Amino acid sequence: MGAFEYCGARPEAILLNLHFQRQTMTEPVRSSNFLRTILREDLESGRASAVATRFPPEPNGYLHIGHAKSICVNFGLAQEFGGTCNLRFDDTNPDTEDTEYVDSIIRDVQWLGFEWNGEVRYASDYFPRLYEWARHLVESGLAYVCELSPEDTRLYRGTLTEPGRDSPFRGRPAAESLALLEEMRAGRVEEGKMTLRAKIDMSSPNLNLRDPVLYRVKHAVHHRTGDTWHIYPSYDFAHGQEDAIEGISHSICTLEFEDHRPLYDWFIEHLPVPARPRQYEFARLNLSYTVTSKRKLKQLVEESHVEGWDDPRMPTVSGLRRRGLTPASLRDFVERTGVSRSESVVDLGVLEFCIRDDLDKNAPRAMCVLRPLRVVLRNFDAGAQQTLRAPCHPSREDLGTRELPFGRELWIDRDDFRVEPEKDFKRLVLGQEVRLRNAYVIRAEEVVRDAAGEIVELVCSYDPDTLGKNPADGRKVKGVIHWVAAAGAVDCEVRLYDRLFVDASPDAAEGGFLANLNARSLEILAGCKAEASLSGATTGQRFQFEREGYFCLDPRRGEGDVPVFNRTIGLRDTWASASKGA
Ligand code: ATP
Ligand code: MG
Repeated sequence: MGAFEYCGARPEAILLNLHFQRQTMTEPVRSSNFLRTILREDLESGRASAVATRFPPEPNGYLHIGHAKSICVNFGLAQEFGGTCNLRFDDTNPDTEDTEYVDSIIRDVQWLGFEWNGEVRYASDYFPRLYEWARHLVESGLAYVCELSPEDTRLYRGTLTEPGRDSPFRGRPAAESLALLEEMRAGRVEEGKMTLRAKIDMSSPNLNLRDPVLYRVKHAVHHRTGDTWHIYPSYDFAHGQEDAIEGISHSICTLEFEDHRPLYDWFIEHLPVPARPRQYEFARLNLSYTVTSKRKLKQLVEESHVEGWDDPRMPTVSGLRRRGLTPASLRDFVERTGVSRSESVVDLGVLEFCIRDDLDKNAPRAMCVLRPLRVVLRNFDAGAQQTLRAPCHPSREDLGTRELPFGRELWIDRDDFRVEPEKDFKRLVLGQEVRLRNAYVIRAEEVVRDAAGEIVELVCSYDPDTLGKNPADGRKVKGVIHWVAAAGAVDCEVRLYDRLFVDASPDAAEGGFLANLNARSLEILAGCKAEASLSGATTGQRFQFEREGYFCLDPRRGEGDVPVFNRTIGLRDTWASASKGA
């Protein structure tokens, strides 16, 4: 069929992608990553004997594409250097955490294709040890129980331009602090009445060193420790020590923790920890047309702007999975965008390129008619039925072939037919011929209209001598369209997705991100007709619907208990060609 022009893959899009590919997408992909250099040097100099990293999510929401980056970076580096990567839940805040999130995060990491070292770990498993270390600091004169109110604690801290003031409780004897700390732990202190603070330097230019809080009183039920604890460690007091307990060599995080590093090092310096991990920061992943903040994603879910955390328009790992992205395309995306310390926004087009690239190579082809128009072949025997065969992929013989029933009644897409064609219309026109993909040439002979004048059926004839070959008399048939035989067609619903936001930087847009939602981000098409072979499709299976794009079978059924196919992405970058034309 290679000789025929196949409508749908528009030439300008192909050019754009090739151009893109030549410039920045040359194989093998190995983008810059300064962490690689650090790891290599640390191993060579003996600073570290092996690479041990960790991914430390807080189970207070679903993972998003930014977390996917962090996962790929941490697990990827460990893999590359023959080391290990732990999965550790940073569950130090019982108010916002939940096992629903724990389960979803475990599933997402597995789906991305990574295996963690040993058991899943939890910060809460280290609560007893952290408490011992807090006592150690008090005994060493390096921490004290402070009774300033939260409000006063803030006032005493000072600002970026003004030094802080010492808390009146700073000089309290260690024995008194130890006794009060025990009261706090045992649940005999009200929330907000006392904190345990490190004694560092109230005039440090780094606010994180102005006697940071180590423990707060919180009478909450923790999803793992129940009501055992009435105090919870701060992120800063927990994180580095957990790294040390687990023997982490490189604690990799995002740049917002850069100013916390001196404090991280201070704890490691002053506590009897079993290892000396070091923290390294890289720039967060920001993606155009996308918000990557758990708080905002949660708001989209809670205010029902989307169907849920796994809505295929969400940049959550579960949403991307339901949308049909492959783990390989996400890993490829992370590799291509590199790891650096300078903030930037990655064009969503790069992610879309990676998806198309993977699916083009790997997704089996199928035909599905999204806006069906009935075709009756007047010269095809009413009772007869043929079975044609088509390859599942144009260049992947290993993907095999599929059977295509062919009969007197077919479906084609309404958009592929015109009574009066516009210029350059190369599909089916009344009185003219078109090729049915993988089948015969047909000619449209007559239209049947309903009372309202709308076309409800096309009467056509087919040329039985054109299966896999051109018409013998040299007639030129330019267009090729997709079709589905009525017999055996799978009734289905198709959901077309577009970007969730209209503005490229939804966070910065006027009126905030919610004022920027794309009202046309979801279009549901009912009554679609897919080829018979798709009756065997399984949840999550991906296809290229020829001339329409890449689709993935949704886990849930649609109206009328029919299968639902989500459009992962179109065949070409409509946004790029739209802006090119503008
Ligand atoms: P959010 O900012 O969306 O609320 P978070 O940083 O609070 O996310 P955590 O569960 O604490 O979420 O994050 C786990 C890990 O993922 C951290 O090491 C964090 O640095 C990293 N991470 C979070 N967002 C991004 C991002 N956009 N790009 C790269 N890494 C990220
Ligand atoms: Mg965080």
